[in-house]
Amino acid sequence: MTVERVGIVGAGQMGNGIAHVFALAGYEVLLTDISGDALKAAVALIDRNLDRQVGKGLIAPLEKAEAIARIGTTQTLTDLGQTDLIIEAATEREAVKQAIFEDLVPHLKPDTILTSNTSSISITRLAARTDRPERFMGFHFMNPVPIMQLVELIRGIATDEPTFKTCEAVVARLGKTSTASEDFPAFIVNRILMPMINEAIYTLYEGVGSVQSIDTSLKLGANHPMGPLELADFIGLDTCLAIMNVLHDGLADTKYRPCPLLTKYVEAGWLGRKSQRGFYDYRGEVPVPTR
Ligand code: NAD
Repeated sequence: MTVERVGIVGAGQMGNGIAHVFALAGYEVLLTDISGDALKAAVALIDRNLDRQVGKGLIAPLEKAEAIARIGTTQTLTDLGQTDLIIEAATEREAVKQAIFEDLVPHLKPDTILTSNTSSISITRLAARTDRPERFMGFHFMNPVPIMQLVELIRGIATDEPTFKTCEAVVARLGKTSTASEDFPAFIVNRILMPMINEAIYTLYEGVGSVQSIDTSLKLGANHPMGPLELADFIGLDTCLAIMNVLHDGLADTKYRPCPLLTKYVEAGWLGRKSQRGFYDYRGEVPVPTR
């Protein structure tokens, strides 16, 4: 199977990064979102991020211009039907993702591969709601997409080998490294990372340490490049909560219980960097801890 045209659903943090790396690798990209503002913001951000790469000498100005020219946008989801590979990167809610795939299916080419960038939702269950579970799999980028090397490839129970091999070759053409994960809640990276972040939030909740002491402890004591609370803000606290709920529900073990303080931040709309407030307040010159 050859992939030349790629459809991306959702132009948020992940969708814009995914569009960026595909366009730079020479793929024709069609990006969709329900929000016209999100589409405009995504293209402007891709433009700035490509400029940064030109400034650092990582890409030539012509490569930037060609990449931007390869990105099209639409607010009509079904326009993606004629692409070879679709990566769904919309909000981490199963009902949202299911509705997207249901709307797409009648408009797809017979051999279009469907994938989801979900951080935690069952690939097998999403696949089962489509007409092509054998050509459905998980295509899980890390944030920020242009910088992070890894893509987790997740086989659903029905994913066939040509589909897996095609996606593996696509990741290689992006210049990234793939790992294979079986379809269990949160796959590999988040299965290990999210309980650590959740534990950091419990540490804050129980008053063991402040935001600053927790992040400094992990940065200097465990050599992590970012503290766990800083990282949670970066990922998005709504996404962190959604992943903990998937682990809790999917594995039915109390060790995955989401911290009530995480729930409270999400209820407040303090979702981290994307809403300018989370464990840190980003509205001023420098981030200030909120606890
Ligand atoms: P985000 O909130 O930044 O963006 C989601 C986008 O989806 C928004 O622009 C929203 O308007 C759009 N959207 C919602 N419903 C839609 C629909 N029906 N059709 C089209 N667009 C729709 O979220 P994000 O952080 O980019 O996460 C997107 C996906 O990527 C999630 O599944 C998430 O789990 C996954 N992911 C996130 C991270 C991370 O660090 N944030 C890392 C890996 C994977």
